[in-house]
Amino acid sequence: MVGSAIYRQLVSKHYSNIITKNLSELDLTRQSDVEEFFQKENPGIVIVAAAKVGGILANDMFRAEFIYENLMIESNIIHSAYKNNVQKLIFLGSSCIYPKLAPQPLKEEYLLSDYLEFTNEPYAIAKIAGIKLCENYYRQYDCNFFSAMPTNLYGFNDNFNLNTSHVLPALIRKFHEAKINFQQDVVVWGTGTPKREFLYVDDLAEAIVFLLEKVNAKDLYQAGITQINIGKGKDLTINELAELISEVTSFKGKIVYDSSKPDGTPRKLMDVTRINNLGWKAKTDLKSGIQKTYQWYLEKFSS
Ligand code: GDP
Repeated sequence: MVGSAIYRQLVSKHYSNIITKNLSELDLTRQSDVEEFFQKENPGIVIVAAAKVGGILANDMFRAEFIYENLMIESNIIHSAYKNNVQKLIFLGSSCIYPKLAPQPLKEEYLLSDYLEFTNEPYAIAKIAGIKLCENYYRQYDCNFFSAMPTNLYGFNDNFNLNTSHVLPALIRKFHEAKINFQQDVVVWGTGTPKREFLYVDDLAEAIVFLLEKVNAKDLYQAGITQINIGKGKDLTINELAELISEVTSFKGKIVYDSSKPDGTPRKLMDVTRINNLGWKAKTDLKSGIQKTYQWYLEKFSS
């Protein structure tokens, strides 16, 4: 989802020589394959969008895979980028790197100030290691490597598998299927009270190209931060999200909560003052982003 959105954004801004690889072409967990790729292609700029990602249940169930694969991917890419003199590297993570009970909104400075949330701790630890790789390759070798932390993303090419997806695509699918199958209700996990922030993936792509063109590693590290937040700066409860998706999909039944499923972090709203002050703001409002994503879902999956 993220890689293809960044690709679309680069093409629309007339960038050329964009190198992309999917998992069947290059397994980023394999060090020698990654080294060979860098030697052969010799990229000038690297955007690390590849990661093992998933929703609350997947993070909790596949804990070993989430920490192992993410550590391997980022270590292989960042070290190879250093060895091949890459001019700029942007590493992407997510808002779950911040402590579970950090003050809201989440400022960049709150990294490593307290304990993480249990369900996605393995993923978060791996992503924090990636942030620290970038920071310390800058400190020791002067590499122009830094990190950007998007909030929860959604959009084209999202994962709609109910066991592994995040909440927004899961609810689009659940409400759509309930509507076409004339079901009375839709089951939403947890209590519905946690709050989440959502960013349309094309807005993220625009932010990444903005950072690529306007920001360098030293701008962050000299300001005393190691990563920059990318979000909308606005959140809503899972209950409000479910009602919005019910409206967009025209589902007329009831919403039922399954409190045997985990809620996760109570809230993770990004403080986006820094990126806003640099000159970037998210454009897409949540309802129109959900409408576009639902349309894409219908074209892709509905016959
Ligand atoms: P998180 O942001 O890391 O907690 O990941 P998710 O996007 O998977 O979950 C966000 C919140 O939505 C949690 O409180 C979930 O319990 C809740 N949620 C409600 N229904 C669903 C669902 O069908 N799938 C997922 N993944 N989460 C759901």
